[in-house]
Amino acid sequence: MSAHILTLNAGSSSLKLGLFAVAAEPEALAEGQVDRIGDDARLWLHDAKGRELAARDLGEAGASHGAALEAALEVLEEHLPEARIAAVGHRVVHGGMDHDAPVRIDDAVLERLSALEPFAPLHQPHNLAGIRAARAAFPDAVQVACFDTAFHRNHPFVNDVFGLPREFYDRGVRRYGFHGLSYDYIAGELGRADADLHAGRVVVAHLGNGASLCGIVGGRSVASTMGFTALDGLPMGTRVGQLDPGVVLHLIEQEGMSAAEVSEMLYKRSGLLGLSGISNDMRELEASDDPRAAEAIAYFTFRIRREIGAMAAAMEGLDGIVFTGGIGENSARIRREVCAPLGWLGVTLDPAANDRSARRIDADGAVAVLVVPTDEERVIARATSAALTG
Ligand code: ADP
Repeated sequence: MSAHILTLNAGSSSLKLGLFAVAAEPEALAEGQVDRIGDDARLWLHDAKGRELAARDLGEAGASHGAALEAALEVLEEHLPEARIAAVGHRVVHGGMDHDAPVRIDDAVLERLSALEPFAPLHQPHNLAGIRAARAAFPDAVQVACFDTAFHRNHPFVNDVFGLPREFYDRGVRRYGFHGLSYDYIAGELGRADADLHAGRVVVAHLGNGASLCGIVGGRSVASTMGFTALDGLPMGTRVGQLDPGVVLHLIEQEGMSAAEVSEMLYKRSGLLGLSGISNDMRELEASDDPRAAEAIAYFTFRIRREIGAMAAAMEGLDGIVFTGGIGENSARIRREVCAPLGWLGVTLDPAANDRSARRIDADGAVAVLVVPTDEERVIARATSAALTG
């Protein structure tokens, strides 16, 4: 009987799952998601071709991550009764200083990952709730943690450090960088299909609700726009991006905001939503004729361009740019607004190729510009398959 892998990506109010057949290159069989956990939860399940297998309201059955997983597994069992889950691969946002690769989860690992909760309070507790729920549901399965920080763990010192007193670096206040599963996938795709580019200096722009850039040289991350937390770098759907730390001090000391209020504002009410006052969703902003929407988009694309310039300096040159994530893969306008003023760096777009989101969208190849859909679930499935068979 063939064995299967379940991938889990537990967010604050959502749970994404994938089902794969175990193989060196795992075969995707189904994907699903529970949204709005704890408040009118809703579940959908698709097969590998994107055809709907199930869609239902969970109500009370989606009140917690554990309950949502249980409900999702019931639906999976109903539609794919042949599935035999031998291993569960988890997306975990923070692996701390120790983990530069996926790891099999046992009690000691889980304890170490729990100790990192203060480093990623909005994500890590939910990731670990997913692990606990999966361990209860599949006590005999191998459980593997795959970290968003791991791909960045070997940055040079100058890209790993802040200019704080040294003791904070030693205590783990470092530039971790995130979105590592996505960057790992893209680096693998370049290795498979664009060997020259893989050997060169590439900026990957992961632009979704969260957004960051990664500088990759010879397939390895050398710099990330994200830092100690996933707040730093580019402005995002609701997150602020790079901010003078003096602003935080001002908000607390002069405006009388509490740390919790500042945190809530920087994570949930800033970025595209905060600047536009309209939406965090790029499709809505692109469709709006409100000048604030255009200004929010202009700030987003300006910061991406600025950071591409910084990445080119960090990598001592630029051979390629790869766009990925919901915005990067789908928005011709954003790619155009990012690339058009980068002619000085050797970047030119083929407008027709850009409009149809072709894989290769540069005009003359001086700097290759690519659109590559990301697949974080596949990276988790590969690592989990390797842990199971290796
Ligand atoms: P997450 O980071 O939550 O995984 P995604 O990678 O799915 O998010 O990206 C979501 C973003 O992608 C949203 O801002 C959405 O509006 C944007 N997006 C998706 N399709 C398009 C499109 N065709 N044009 C512009 N933006 C798009």
